[in-house]
Amino acid sequence: MGLTYQSTRGGESGVTASMAILQGLAKDGGLFMPAEIPKLDVPFEVLAGMTYQETAYEVMKLFLTDFTEEELKSCIDRAYDGKFDTEEIAPLAKADGAYYLELYHGSTIAFKDMALSILPHLMTTSARKNKADKEIVILTATSGDTGKAAMAGFADVPGTRIIVFYPKNGVSKVQELQMRTQKGDNTSVVAIHGNFDDAQTGVKNIFGNRALEEEMASAGFQFSSANSINIGRLVPQVVYYVYAYAKLLANQEIGQGEEINVVVPTGNFGNILAAYFAKKWAFLSRPWYALPMTTRYCTIFCYRNLRQEAGIYPYQFPVHGHPYIQQFRASYLPERRLRSGSQRSLMKELAEKGSYTVTPAMREFMSDFTGGFATEAENAAVIKQIFEDTGYLVDTHTGVAAAVYKGYKALTGDGAKTVIASTASPYKFSHSVMEAIAGSESLEGRDEFQVVDELSRLTGTPVPGAVEEIRNAPVRHNLECGVDKMEETVKNILGI
Ligand SMILES: *Cc1c(COP(=O)(O)O)cnc(C)c1O
Repeated sequence: MGLTYQSTRGGESGVTASMAILQGLAKDGGLFMPAEIPKLDVPFEVLAGMTYQETAYEVMKLFLTDFTEEELKSCIDRAYDGKFDTEEIAPLAKADGAYYLELYHGSTIAFKDMALSILPHLMTTSARKNKADKEIVILTATSGDTGKAAMAGFADVPGTRIIVFYPKNGVSKVQELQMRTQKGDNTSVVAIHGNFDDAQTGVKNIFGNRALEEEMASAGFQFSSANSINIGRLVPQVVYYVYAYAKLLANQEIGQGEEINVVVPTGNFGNILAAYFAKKWAFLSRPWYALPMTTRYCTIFCYRNLRQEAGIYPYQFPVHGHPYIQQFRASYLPERRLRSGSQRSLMKELAEKGSYTVTPAMREFMSDFTGGFATEAENAAVIKQIFEDTGYLVDTHTGVAAAVYKGYKALTGDGAKTVIASTASPYKFSHSVMEAIAGSESLEGRDEFQVVDELSRLTGTPVPGAVEEIRNAPVRHNLECGVDKMEETVKNILGI
């Protein structure tokens, strides 16, 4: 019997990986957790010589034990192929005293491609394995990045449809163009007359509508979600941290067993969570294969100028608040478990005062993490400094990570080798990057694509194919609807 998954609420156990991927969330509302900690069975000297795809297989097979070798390799090969503009898939660039792990070489030039390129294949394989004969309908509300990355992943994958809702006037011009030019007969994009919260609420309501679920089922459809709770999204994100460590070894940048830091610009904490899993989960039980790393995270909410006071971490709550991390602690670190009552009172304190006080138990757990932020001005300054000193260009998310890392290093003197997760191509945010390196004058009188071209000229870096593609691509999606018409729109699209 391979690794099985159990609901954190106790309602389900013995669930195979493929069922967990198909279901997303357990029926009792809990999250799926592996019943035991998988062991990496390949030494790092061997991993050091592996391609991204080979590494992905070695890591993912530990978690998805009911997939045959052929099934898993086929998913990996279909995900990490020519959609990526480099064979390395996630190259590691050395610049300015750190190693930038570039997670933006996929079809939407941001890191969500790393997981969303493979999730559709894991899902359809899971459906086949479990004889689920219904067409899978992915519904997603997006504020820009996730929707496009999910569509790019699911486009033309047999047995799936994807419908994305985004707030009209609530996403950037490039993001909107990226979505509205999306190819694939199974993709639909709808602009809603409302904000992101309206879109998200609408999607949640559709998911929670039992009558609609039955209607869908009799028409041969079942809803699924591509959100970050799905283990099919989390597991592929563990891969690139293992890959990065192996590459550092291969390039003799570090020695066997040398401890490294990982810095991740964060939003919903899915990416840093994967780093944490890479450290704790896959490798915990075999210390000689342990991935010796310290996770550093920083927040991309750089706009609020938050204070860090003794014992008060206003911007750290989501790390321990992420349901998976809570459950990780509850399942594997019971002695350090925070009772849910105290969890609730902390969330209340947070809502009322905008911050909460960290208890000793939480402090111990969080010793794995260091948090920080950068203001917009600090972010721009660091993007400019890195570019001027080294010629390396980073986007605004990665800029925050770089700024926080510099501050951390200055404060602590920690000289450990450090991997910074570089989550988007500078061309995804060319306005802000351009402004950072050449001032706001450089934007005057230039439209979206003129800024892109100027950025390329100024920095001597090529415009990514993903941007070139949308420059002249025909708009294929024109749907719009009111927030109260989302369900109706879904039915229309599916023809039911
Ligand atoms: C989504 C996203 C993030 C945040 O990732 P989380 O997993 O939500 O923490 C960071 N940078 C970019 C460019 C993103 O698209």
